[in-house]
Amino acid sequence: MRVFQAKKLDEAISLALAQVEPVAETEEILSTGAYGRILAQAIVCPEDIPGFARSAMDGYAVRAQDICGASHEDPVTLKVIGSVEIGQDPRALSRVAEGEAMEVPTGGPIPPGADAVVMLEETERQSSDTVRIFSAGVAGTHVLAADSDFQRGERVFRAGHRLRAVDLGALLAMGVLSVNVYRRVRVGILSTGDELVEAERTTRPGQIRQINSHILRSLLEAQGAHGFADGIVPDDRKKLEAAVQQAVSEHDMVLLSGGSSVGSRDWTLDVLRKLGEVFIHGLQIKPGKPTIFAVIEKKPVVGLPGNPVSCAIVFEKFVRPVLARRSGLKVLLPSHRLASAHLTQTVRSVIGREDFVAVRLRLDDERGILYAEPVLGHSNNISTLARADGVLSVPADLEEIPQGAQVWVELL
Ligand code: AMP
Ligand code: MG
Repeated sequence: MRVFQAKKLDEAISLALAQVEPVAETEEILSTGAYGRILAQAIVCPEDIPGFARSAMDGYAVRAQDICGASHEDPVTLKVIGSVEIGQDPRALSRVAEGEAMEVPTGGPIPPGADAVVMLEETERQSSDTVRIFSAGVAGTHVLAADSDFQRGERVFRAGHRLRAVDLGALLAMGVLSVNVYRRVRVGILSTGDELVEAERTTRPGQIRQINSHILRSLLEAQGAHGFADGIVPDDRKKLEAAVQQAVSEHDMVLLSGGSSVGSRDWTLDVLRKLGEVFIHGLQIKPGKPTIFAVIEKKPVVGLPGNPVSCAIVFEKFVRPVLARRSGLKVLLPSHRLASAHLTQTVRSVIGREDFVAVRLRLDDERGILYAEPVLGHSNNISTLARADGVLSVPADLEEIPQGAQVWVELL
């Protein structure tokens, strides 16, 4: 009898993470192509950005002391000495002296001498060279300082941060044109099962199309890793052993689907035990219980259940953190967007096991309420997830979530 001591998900993740190191190699790449990549260096801002003071409003650049006490009842009249064009070099602008103002557009540089901007709405042009000011201000009013975006020497990103679209914008705004990132993690994918045939082939009764490697490869790509589908391995101990050895030698990490349970044709556990060290066999989750975590030649190897729904859920809940550590990522945030919804019917679970339930979202337009409706159907079938908009969790310490309760749904 083989041991099957299922672990709580969070304990299993900590246990696994303690065994995983980031890939050692890093590469210098252009910031413009760094979307989704993980920084291997901290980014320190090389210069003040924007580097010159600029106006936050359309209005007049003035000396704050000149408009002290200005109001609608008691306006101040200033002499207009010209106007600033957006994009102009502030060093070429004439100086705003006592009693003077210069027209300035939003984003335009603040001319020397001026230290505040009065917005257009608080002024009235009287003639080509005089303007009345109806509001007071202090130095800095409606002015974006030269270092208002980023300060020289400021640490903007830590090593281990995954670059988002806005982060690329920040890098380029600072003139940081290239970055050192971890190389993408290469993950080998093996599908096991005598009943499987590649989806392109014709099937006869008794056979099913192999889909897990395609699901896993897409999920890996979404995490910035490269997945390599290394084919279908029959339920044969020797062949599986050879295939795992080969995959481990070629990749940074290996995922196997199928054969991870304790059936007579399930060889994954035996093979992983033989080739390396098995740390986890079994997670206290549903679906996804028959999951194995092993380390072979310092590389993480995960045996996922063959059931495609379990396989996808185990990837998201267990593989993703392991992959993140291997990729060099320091902070793991939920990868999916969350929707808050009201449950249309009670979902039941058992204490001590975390359940993941596929739900469809339905918006009640009139009342503006979002409902989460559990998708009926066998949890083994991929159609259950294909018909769903997201997944909700029934935590291990709850027996049920009652109808009407507000739940967070992770969108698929
Ligand atoms: P196993 O974990 O090997 O017992 O497989 C559980 C169920 O998932 C079985 O019904 C398998 O036929 C099915 N299955 C296993 N691997 C795949 C795969 N790669 N694609 C589709 N279904 C699979
Ligand atoms: Mg199988």
